Amino acid sequence: MIPLARPLIEDDDISAVVEALKSGYLVQGPRVAAFEQACADAVGAAHAVAVSSGTAALHVALICLGVGPGSRVAVPTFSWPATANVVELCGAEPVFVDIETDTFAMSPAALASALSDRQVDVVMPVHPFGVVANMTAIAQEAQRCGAVVVEDAACALGAEREGRQAGLWSDAGCFSFHPRKAVTTAEGGMIVTSDPLVARRARVLRNHGLAPDSATPDFEEVGFNYRLTEVQAALGTLQLAKLNRVAAMRERQAAIYGRLLNGSGLTPQVTPLGSRSALQSYVTLLPEAAASSRPRLIQLLRDRGIETTIGTHHVPLTRTYQQKYGFKAGDFPVTDDVAARALTLPLFPGLTESDQESVVSAVNDVLAYVAS
Ligand SMILES: *Cc1c(COP(=O)(O)O)cnc(C)c1O
Repeated sequence: MIPLARPLIEDDDISAVVEALKSGYLVQGPRVAAFEQACADAVGAAHAVAVSSGTAALHVALICLGVGPGSRVAVPTFSWPATANVVELCGAEPVFVDIETDTFAMSPAALASALSDRQVDVVMPVHPFGVVANMTAIAQEAQRCGAVVVEDAACALGAEREGRQAGLWSDAGCFSFHPRKAVTTAEGGMIVTSDPLVARRARVLRNHGLAPDSATPDFEEVGFNYRLTEVQAALGTLQLAKLNRVAAMRERQAAIYGRLLNGSGLTPQVTPLGSRSALQSYVTLLPEAAASSRPRLIQLLRDRGIETTIGTHHVPLTRTYQQKYGFKAGDFPVTDDVAARALTLPLFPGLTESDQESVVSAVNDVLAYVAS
């Protein structure tokens, strides 16, 4: 079986985890602090605050920027549901914005049109599958209506656009270290920010509201338990050190797919010129005629030992959001099309060129088969 993804866990990762377990200090200690410093250095951020997941990072970031009941947050339609869920969890309202056909990221034109209808407090673009959204245009639209920006950079550690790293385009950049991301801590997340007050409040909120800088316990507000463990942080520091190597492998594999897919009818997600994707996933669009056969294609590929999947979710049409807000097909036409046609191919360290040839030849075969 050629799996869709497989985290790169090496002997040094395992030793670091064992060493952390043996230390007797298991939660939010020196290894978490070291992981935060390594992450701040890798991204070039002033502050990095570790939390228990990418979702926790987004949730805390929104609260730190004042999102609560009555707030509105612009989010893209095509994402993991966590992007919109954290807005709901703050008691705020998501304002869904359609995406671009080629990058699958929030469309600045669709954002401008949404903002002409309604005021929002925060704009939260996603860097889909590691491709950085058009942040210059998005930030301009946000600024026009006085909104702040938060990046859902869950998939985008190490990505950049116009020479600026993902996570540094906004008031708070949020990363995930889930095993499906390029480097992992099993579960884990990080908030990067240049604002010391945002960083401090994130430290308060992740730890039951406890002031991080008081000599005696001082619970200054209601908080969560969103702490990262020492075991995860030990793994994270080693994983971060592998980021450049992992990125180079993924780039080489993406270039090979690009060549192999030439003439296949599959259109890969576009990384804009002059930018660098973190290549969290290798996502393509099926030909329009094949969209309705996608579940069958995925099954036929699985029968041949190749794991593929859809891209990600059309969040307004998931049951939760469809029922709450009454969204229907046609409300977000680009997402309707992209969500129906996206097909993710295997991409992970260790995938060989001959594996990739097998993947593409099987895709070509099953496409021809369902078309016949
Ligand atoms: C993975 C992901 C998240 C959630 O991260 P977790 O660490 O799994 O909580 C949020 N948004 C996007 C776009 C993601 O890909």
